[in-house]
Amino acid sequence: MSESILKVEHVQAKYGDFIAVEDATLDVPAGTIVSVIGANGAGKSTLMDTIAGVHKASGGKIIFKGEDISGMPAEKIVLRGLSLVPQGSRCFIRMTVEDNLIMGSFPKSARPMMKDTLDRVYTLFPVLKQKRNDLSGSLSGGQRQMVAIGRALMTNPDCVLFDEISLGLAPTIIKDIYARIKEISSDGMTVVLVEQDTHRAIRTGEISHVMLKGRVVLSGRSRELGEDEIKKAYFGL
Ligand code: ATP
Repeated sequence: MSESILKVEHVQAKYGDFIAVEDATLDVPAGTIVSVIGANGAGKSTLMDTIAGVHKASGGKIIFKGEDISGMPAEKIVLRGLSLVPQGSRCFIRMTVEDNLIMGSFPKSARPMMKDTLDRVYTLFPVLKQKRNDLSGSLSGGQRQMVAIGRALMTNPDCVLFDEISLGLAPTIIKDIYARIKEISSDGMTVVLVEQDTHRAIRTGEISHVMLKGRVVLSGRSRELGEDEIKKAYFGL
């Protein structure tokens, strides 16, 4: 197994007094696809937002490429090569598809590669090329999700956190997007995939981490853990 690109050590995150993430420790080896699995409200999104610097940790440490990024603002974390595709297919609906994508290449390091990365995004999602001059507001949910993924790729990241990108999408679209994620991974990018669907998560992620009520309760190679053990941890059995 390759060296860790991301280490999350005993992270805690709160909303006011409410502890949404109580104790999360996880390891992400470079170049792998890692699944973070858990039921509604387990704390997955809060953990992803905290890793990406969108939400402030109230305890613990986050190490990315050997550097302690805990407490660092999101825009600085992006510059270091860690990008988040947040839940909800977010894109700017009054902007064209291409302008949404180009916005992603704001890091100085990403700008010289902008054209090549844009071509790569269009190769991954040809429908975005067809619709590049259309307003993002006119797209379907699946196409908006592709824009959100494309924008994250435009930052030229080493590691991307995908927060429940399958939410609300049709099964055929989900299948297509997951196939593209595997392609992104085979390009050498590290992928962290948040999922509620244990079966899909295990099939895609080489390593699984299961969250339950704000804690990472099970971690290991997906194949060795097996679906039964992962499901038990998911339900707290
Ligand atoms: P889902 O799969 O439904 O997205 P999740 O595992 O991502 O769930 P979170 O969204 O991180 O879980 O939520 C963890 C806990 O924090 C839940 O109890 C949720 O109600 C609470 N929570 C989330 N966002 C906020 C917020 N902005 N203010 C207060 N509590 C919040």
